[in-house]
Amino acid sequence: MSFDAIIVGAGISGMYQLYRLRELGMKVRVFESGSDVGGTWYWNRYPGARFDSESWSYGFSFSEELLQEWEWPEHFSAQPDTLRYLNYVADKFDLRREMRFNAKVTAAHFDDDTNSWTVTTESGEQATAPLLIMGLGPLSAHTLPNIPGRDDYEGPAYHTARWPHEPVDLKDKRVGIIGTGACGIQAIQTIAKEVGSLTIFQRKPNWAAPLHNSKITPEEQEEIRASYPEIFERCRNTVACFIHNPDLRYTLETPPEEREEFWEKLYSEPGFGIWMGNFRDMVIDEEANRLASEFVAKKIRQRVKDPKVAEKLIPKDHGFGMRRVPLESGYFEVYNQDNVELIDISETPIERITKKGIRTSDRDFEFDFMIYATGFDGVTGPYDRIDIRGSGGRSLKEDWIGTPRTLLGVQAEGYPNMFMVLGPHTARGNIPRNIEEIVDWITDMIKFMREEGYSRSEPRPEAVAEWGEAVEKVSKILLSSKIGSWQTGVNQNVPGRDKPRVLGYNGGVFRYRKRGRQVAEGGYKEFAFR
Ligand code: NAP
Repeated sequence: MSFDAIIVGAGISGMYQLYRLRELGMKVRVFESGSDVGGTWYWNRYPGARFDSESWSYGFSFSEELLQEWEWPEHFSAQPDTLRYLNYVADKFDLRREMRFNAKVTAAHFDDDTNSWTVTTESGEQATAPLLIMGLGPLSAHTLPNIPGRDDYEGPAYHTARWPHEPVDLKDKRVGIIGTGACGIQAIQTIAKEVGSLTIFQRKPNWAAPLHNSKITPEEQEEIRASYPEIFERCRNTVACFIHNPDLRYTLETPPEEREEFWEKLYSEPGFGIWMGNFRDMVIDEEANRLASEFVAKKIRQRVKDPKVAEKLIPKDHGFGMRRVPLESGYFEVYNQDNVELIDISETPIERITKKGIRTSDRDFEFDFMIYATGFDGVTGPYDRIDIRGSGGRSLKEDWIGTPRTLLGVQAEGYPNMFMVLGPHTARGNIPRNIEEIVDWITDMIKFMREEGYSRSEPRPEAVAEWGEAVEKVSKILLSSKIGSWQTGVNQNVPGRDKPRVLGYNGGVFRYRKRGRQVAEGGYKEFAFR
């Protein structure tokens, strides 16, 4: 079958891209590996999964009617409500019409003679189009732990990103969980009260701070509905498109009591303020970061009764905010429960997974149920899992072994007509806000190509090199660039992913937006067209 454009992924990116391409009157096919829309929110159904960002800043902004119709029940939406929302959007705009579900894309090959892409799915279905748009998401390639014996376990075991669709009864069960990132933390705090026992295997602790979620009252609902223009304007004008923006004071120039008072306030407020709204130098100055980390460590020591356990929960190898900060609701108090045990596997490593559970260097554990909250091969992982062949048959996976090379994260050198929403080296920040901006930018460029009669576009090598340098340069000043996390592409479960790389543009959304605007307004001179 032939189309004007093929979109891979029916998450937030794919849904909005489809909506925009339809406006251009294009014939589009969307391939999605899941059985319905939703992407991240379709797959991540683990107990406690929810937004860490304010719901009302995290939905689509393109339709005033949708904004006025939809009611978020909570300030930080739970996964079932978010999936309900995305289904509502799909119904309202009749998006499923062009979508093929249960259609996992395994290959995408470019043909230089016809300037078109052929996409193949797992079942062998093929489709061709001049334009290919990847809406893969930065966190869709989940990774299981590379621990010997993983397949030996006889009981049920699920990765958080592949949670069953039917209800899972964990009541009174002996549960083991590996991983204490954002997903692990949400799952742990949610199931701890219900399970018989919970054994948490932690390799490295992560910093976490309170979410302070609450229901949205009818009065707040009215206020939110009336304030969408201001909410989205605020997001456009913050450094990472969240409602929070760094405080303009410097840590060391602020008197200690004033600092303490400020941190207390941030710690008691909802959302990412403690991370995104902290002193401006927290992310670039080691001493400023040490002081902020010390404040959060003090909170952990206050909340966890056993001082030895508290110390194990305080990161020593990276400062606060150097990895994406999970937000929690009673996570640290879980460790005060009698049915919860923390196993520090940096002290007693896991030797293998057994038929009945887990063997560490110290003990054998038996479980009725196991959870792998072991994260994702971030940003480039979803691309690596598709056999993407560009001009002359070159392989994207091989081209990106060292570092990805893109222009603004929207197109890669050597892969004509392949656009990426949230590809490597796009600006970091509030994901739905970034998606809308990037999709709009891509749509404008596609419109330009159609108006000019171009059938092939590719970023010029010098423009790609220049963007790569800009990306590297701004990252150097950030302390987080040296720290291993999905954001720097480190994942010990994936061969070759043990050193931090720069995978996002950290110079702020303003500068990213400005560069994108320059390229568009200048007639896309950074691209070679045919
Ligand atoms: P993650 O933050 O990368 O955490 C993975 C955890 O698994 C880490 O504790 C890691 O330990 C551990 N791990 C991995 N492999 C292991 C192994 N072989 N043995 C022992 N431990 C192992 O992943 P995540 O929790 O899935 O979160 C990823 C991202 O998803 C978050 O940072 C966030 O951006 C996003 N997220 C968003 C929301 C939201 O907004 N609502 C909610 C959840 C997640 P090490 O640290 O030692 O590697």
